[in-house]
Amino acid sequence: MKANCWMGRGDVEVRDVPDPRILNGHDAVVRVTSTAICGSDLHLYDGFVPTMKKGDILGHEFMGEVVEVGPDVRNLHVGDRVVVPFPIACGRCAACELGLYSVCENTNPNAGLAEKFLGHSPAGIFGYSHMLGGYPGGQAEYARVPFADVGPIKIEDGLADEQVLFLSDILPTGWMGAEMCEIKPGDVIAVWGAGPVGQFAVAGAYLMGADQVVCIDRFAYRLRIAERAGATALDYEEVDVREALLDLTAGRGPDACIDAVGMEAHYANPALYAYDRTKQATRLETDRPYALREAIMNCRNGGIVAVIGVYAGFLDKFPMGAVMNRSLTLKAGQCHVQRHLKPLLAKIREGDIDPSFVITHRLPLDEAPRGYQMFRDKQDECNKVVLTP
Ligand SMILES: [Zn+2]
Ligand SMILES: [Zn+2]
Repeated sequence: MKANCWMGRGDVEVRDVPDPRILNGHDAVVRVTSTAICGSDLHLYDGFVPTMKKGDILGHEFMGEVVEVGPDVRNLHVGDRVVVPFPIACGRCAACELGLYSVCENTNPNAGLAEKFLGHSPAGIFGYSHMLGGYPGGQAEYARVPFADVGPIKIEDGLADEQVLFLSDILPTGWMGAEMCEIKPGDVIAVWGAGPVGQFAVAGAYLMGADQVVCIDRFAYRLRIAERAGATALDYEEVDVREALLDLTAGRGPDACIDAVGMEAHYANPALYAYDRTKQATRLETDRPYALREAIMNCRNGGIVAVIGVYAGFLDKFPMGAVMNRSLTLKAGQCHVQRHLKPLLAKIREGDIDPSFVITHRLPLDEAPRGYQMFRDKQDECNKVVLTP
């Protein structure tokens, strides 16, 4: 089959690879009908996530048709249409029983490697480094889905791929960011990052009753999409973010702040950017945490900072003094996608949200390399790329 493979920093290639097959009774094989490039794939593309190997198949946002099931999969049958969540979860361990699927205790065969970087191991993730399991991803014609009896959700009505594909990651991820904010009527929520996850965090925060959601970015086209979801847009290259947030909140700061940027933040402050970029390049820190620092410093006293942007390792100049002295609550996590699938599918079906609004580019799988480059370099107002094998 054909698959989009990581070949090194800034280099992906669609190659012929062996077809996946059933390795475990709980597996299914899915013929991928739609897959997407995620902002977090760009961290792999840019070489910031350790333990990638040349030839690794990328992709953790995919859906398709079940073509084969193992003997222990009783809820799915050949021919079913499914969306596959990006974290692989067993459904039976202590973490899964608490609904914490992205930290499943049973799905990372390389747990020892993750423990070295992270202390304890989270769940395995499709196409996201050997530290997170080394599972082949879904930017391919076919994918093996472990624990197919737990993760995938069946799509039984006529909803198009583009309406349901993002249940695999970015819709529930944005939603979980908003949920972490414990939104109450009257709340002002600020979201750093107007990419697709930020756009869904904006939509989610309004559906949860936020009074005003502010979205911060530097790309006008992404801010326009966030505005269509209801956001007040702040271009940090044009306005002073702190002043603007103080103006909107009677001088207190937003009730909750969402970091939907993660480890490769761009900076309004060139000196600080140079500082972090140098430390990152020389491996003295792994992540550039500008958005997170801003979210913490601007959140109101006693507020919540929710981190859904991806971080890989260690940060520098982390404002712990602000967190401690101002009674902030810091929440974070890879999305526990499995627990959001049914409620969010219902919202799509009822027309409360149509996630396809984030898509700007549709390409055949063969053109994945061009898709990665366009998306990374923000060419042609690229917001979200869907690939069709
Ligand atoms: Zn993703
Ligand atoms: Zn589990």
